Amino acid sequence: MGRRKKKKFSFVYVIFAVIVMLSAVIIDSNFGDSIHEYIESLEVYSLIDLDEDNTKAVEGSLVVDFIDVGQGDSILIRQGSHAMLIDGGTSESKQDLLGFLESENVSSFDYIIGTHPHEDHIGSLDDVVNSYDFDTILFPKVTTTTKTFENLVLAVKGKNKKFVEPEINKEYTLGDAKFTILAPNSKEYDSLNNYSIVIKLTYGKNSFIFTGDAESLSESEILKNNVDLKADVLKIGHHGSSTSTSEKFLNAVSPKYAVISVGKDNSYNHPTKTTMNRLKKLGIPVYRTDEQGTIECVSNGETISFNVDAGTYSYMGN
Ligand SMILES: [Zn+2]
Repeated sequence: MGRRKKKKFSFVYVIFAVIVMLSAVIIDSNFGDSIHEYIESLEVYSLIDLDEDNTKAVEGSLVVDFIDVGQGDSILIRQGSHAMLIDGGTSESKQDLLGFLESENVSSFDYIIGTHPHEDHIGSLDDVVNSYDFDTILFPKVTTTTKTFENLVLAVKGKNKKFVEPEINKEYTLGDAKFTILAPNSKEYDSLNNYSIVIKLTYGKNSFIFTGDAESLSESEILKNNVDLKADVLKIGHHGSSTSTSEKFLNAVSPKYAVISVGKDNSYNHPTKTTMNRLKKLGIPVYRTDEQGTIECVSNGETISFNVDAGTYSYMGN
C-alpha cells in the first residue's frame, strides 16, 4: 500500500515539474525578448557613437613600441589582436628585433611596412617575413641592387606574397585604428629616403605620423596635399637629420611628443643641432632610443602615455 502511494506521488511530482520547466522556458524567452527591447530603448550603443569632431570613441588601447635597433628604425604597433610592423632595423639588430617580437607574443601581422630600401630599415625585415605570417606588405616602388633588398624580395616571394605599392590617401584599418598613406607623392626621387612611405595613424582622438627617412622635399609634397597633418606624436624623419623635419612640416603636425629612433654614437652624427633646436624651441618633449632604449607609447583613444621619461635635446652633428 505504502509503496503504491509513493509511486502515485512521484508521478504527480514529475508532471508538475515538467509544467514548471516548460513555463519557465516560455517566460524566460519572453523575458529575454523584452530585455533586448528594453536595452535598445536605452540606446546604450549610442554611447560609443561618433563624436562631434567625427573621431571615433574607442575601447581598449593602441600600443606603439619604438624598438631599440641601434641606428635604424623598427616600430611595432598593436591594437587588440591586430599588429603591424614599420621597418625591421639593421641586419645587426636581428636578435634584438626578433627577441622583442617574441617577448611581446606577437604571432602575426596585419601589415608590414618597409618604408624604403635602406639597410637600416629593411636589414632584418627578411627575417621577420620568414618568421611570421602576415596579410599585407607595403613597399614603395623602387628597387636597389643590394643583397639586403634581394633577401627581402626572396623572403616575400617565399611566402607567396607581393609588395603592395602605397597609394596616396588610401586608408587601411588596424582593429579600431586606421592609417592613411601620406607619401611618397612622386614616382621618382634622387634620394632613396624620399621614397619613404609616410603614414598617419589614428586611434580615437589620438594620432601619430610615421615618416621613415622622408626628407624636406617629401614633406613639402605632403603639405601641398592639404590633408590634416595635426598629430599627437611625430616619429622624427631620418633619425633627426637636418635634411628632415622642416619648420613648415613640424608646424603643420605640431606634435605634443616627438620620437627619434637613433643609435648611440652613430657615425652619421644624428640627431642634428638643427632638428633638436627646432624641437626645443617649441618645447616638444623628445623620446629617443639612443637614450631611453625601446620606447613604449600607449594611447587609450583620448590620451597618450610613455613608459619612460623624455630625453635630452643633445645633438651630435649640425
Ligand atoms: Zn634610416
